[in-house]
Amino acid sequence: TTKTRFAPSPTGFLHVGGARTALYSWLHARANKGEFVLRIEDTDLERSSQEACDAILDGMQWLGLTWDEGPYYQTKRFDRYNEIIAQMLEQGTAYKCYCSRERIETLRDEQAARGEKQKYDGCCRNLAPRDTDEPFVVRFKNPLEGSVVFDDHVRGRIEFANEELDDLIIARSEGTPTYNFCVVVDDWDMGITCVVRGEDHINNTPRQINILKALGAPIPEYAHVSMILGDDGAKLSKRHGAVSVMQYRDDGYLPEALLNYLVRLGWSHGDQEIFTLDEMKQLFKLSDINKAPSAFNTEKLLWLNQHYIKSLAPEYVASHLQWHMDEQKIDTSNGPALAEVVTALSERAKTLKELAASSRYFYEDFSEFDEAQAKKHLRGVALEPLKLVQQKIAALSEWTQEAIHQAIEDTATELEVGMGKVGMPLRVAVTGAGQSPGLDLTLFLIGKARSEQRISKAIE
Ligand code: GLU
Repeated sequence: TTKTRFAPSPTGFLHVGGARTALYSWLHARANKGEFVLRIEDTDLERSSQEACDAILDGMQWLGLTWDEGPYYQTKRFDRYNEIIAQMLEQGTAYKCYCSRERIETLRDEQAARGEKQKYDGCCRNLAPRDTDEPFVVRFKNPLEGSVVFDDHVRGRIEFANEELDDLIIARSEGTPTYNFCVVVDDWDMGITCVVRGEDHINNTPRQINILKALGAPIPEYAHVSMILGDDGAKLSKRHGAVSVMQYRDDGYLPEALLNYLVRLGWSHGDQEIFTLDEMKQLFKLSDINKAPSAFNTEKLLWLNQHYIKSLAPEYVASHLQWHMDEQKIDTSNGPALAEVVTALSERAKTLKELAASSRYFYEDFSEFDEAQAKKHLRGVALEPLKLVQQKIAALSEWTQEAIHQAIEDTATELEVGMGKVGMPLRVAVTGAGQSPGLDLTLFLIGKARSEQRISKAIE
């Protein structure tokens, strides 16, 4: 069965590029009823941190990219790596290299001066075993001839000549295993059948394949995904705006919108733009990933976000909106059900953050009216319709949208004015601002007692 993994290095938050790689890997597992492994590549102790690990796990959880195994931590697997290194030394697929740093540097300088590719010359490759306490590194005995070929799901056939690859250090002189080696042991031990990762790892792949072969391990399939660019064609980075998944949550995006956006950023199925998770799981194929880099487009993400705010179940959207209400310190315990507010406002908001901000008046009284609106609608003769509608509202025996609508309409008819002459002062009175959903719904959600209080206050 298919088994894929996402293997982030915990050196920062979960980046949208990483999230897209994770999504593709996850989808490939889900599309094939396989399994998805999360592995934290934390061997670079100086650059890795617990906060970064937590941030990555939070991002994955928020996106709903659930893992079936893990998280595994490479730092907890050193014994296993060392065990394999010992075996390789024993079997002769790896060797101890005693070359000094100086020798290696001189070698590189000489190669550079001759315009050659800088690589280790294999000096210690065939040394007889030594009994010495000189420091050494362990190097993999890379084949000298032939080539490594793999069929990348995204990029097609890729071939590297073994001549180009030198004998990779798999254990440093302090005894710690190196990055490429840990990846190999992990992919093998974890039974990974398909490696989905960024194209920046293509050069590691032939080295990893050679080590896997030496270990007698099966070779997984590979899919190297292209990078994401900003709108100016440069590699996506902080200066293009938000790049962290959790920043998108903070900015008011739904995970469905970000997932849909990310899946389309470099993958397509005909000209379909909107994909539910179930559709993605059914339709996703690695071979449909686009080889060209993709440019990030915030407008499209906003469009998708609005689509999902409008079309997902209001109760579900409300569960995400609640986080923003808390964040903006709006106490939702005293007012309408949040799902009803979602229904009322979903046509008007592109983000949940905006939606939260514009729903404050459903839950909290405000102390000030929008100045321009108040000047226009809450003064002098403009107040007359408000006074009459106040009476009609007070007299309502049932609080329904129909009844509220009727009260407004009757006021307009009686005063022989347009609905707007009644509606605008009423809107400003109950919401403090000049914009809101339909007044009958708005007043209904605000409630009778609160609406009456606010109207009185506006008339004062
Ligand atoms: N840890 C690597 C990274 O974050 C990924 C390596 C891999 O997927 O093989 O770029």
